[in-house]
Amino acid sequence: MEIKGFIETSLIDWDGKIVSVVFLPGCNFRCPFCHNHILVKHPEQIADVPWERIESFLRGKKGWIDGVVITGGEPTIHKELMPLLAKLKGLGLPAKLDTNGSDPDQLKRIINGGLVEFIAMDIKASFDGSYDLACGVAVNKENIRESIALIMSSGLDYEFRTTIVPQYHDLDSVENMAREIKGAKKWVLQQFVQTNADDEGLRSLPPYNEEYLEEMRKRAEGLVERVVLRGI
Ligand code: SF4
Repeated sequence: MEIKGFIETSLIDWDGKIVSVVFLPGCNFRCPFCHNHILVKHPEQIADVPWERIESFLRGKKGWIDGVVITGGEPTIHKELMPLLAKLKGLGLPAKLDTNGSDPDQLKRIINGGLVEFIAMDIKASFDGSYDLACGVAVNKENIRESIALIMSSGLDYEFRTTIVPQYHDLDSVENMAREIKGAKKWVLQQFVQTNADDEGLRSLPPYNEEYLEEMRKRAEGLVERVVLRGI
C-alpha cells in the first residue's frame, strides 16, 4: 500500500509509549486548520516509503518500540488498512489508529478483528452547521455518532480529541460536543497552531489563551470523565 511518511521513534503520539508512526495519504475531509494538507491534497508530491524498510526497522527494534501509530490523512479511506494492521499484529506490535470517525463500518471490522489497542478519534465541532464548516465538507453526523458509540463500547483504550480553533469553537460548542461524547473516558482539547494551516486566512488567527481553554475544560468536566488540554 502507499505509505507516505514514517517516523522511527516518537514519544508524543501515544501517551506513555515509544512508538513508530506511519502516515497514510489522502483524506475525505478538508479541515481548514489541517496541518497535513500536502499529505491530504497532494500526496503525489511526497515520496513513498517502502513497507519493506518499515518492516525491517520494526523487526530490528523489537523490544524497543512499544507500538505503531497509524495516522494520516485519514487511514480508514484505505482498503489496505486492515491488512496493514494485521501485518503489525503479526510482528507482535500493538497499533494505535488515528481517525476522523467517518467510517464506522471499517472501524467495527478493525475492532472486532482485534487489530488495534488504542483509537484516537477527532470530534471536529458541535453537531450543527459548525461540523461541516470545521471539516470543509458535508459530513454524515450519524456516522460520526456511530463511531463514537462503537469506540466507547469497544473495551479498548481510546481518546476523543478536538483542535480548538476560535473560528469554530466557543464555550457553548464545547459543552455541545461534550454532550455528544457524554460518559467518555477522555477528551483532549488541543491548542490550535496557526502556522501551516491549510486555509491561509487562519494563519493570522490568534488561538485562544490558556485561561479560556481552561474555562472550556471546566465546562466539559462532569460530562466526560477526564478532559485534558494539550499543546499549551
Ligand atoms: S480529518 Fe485530519 S487529516 Fe483530514 S483534513 Fe481534517 S485535520 Fe486534515
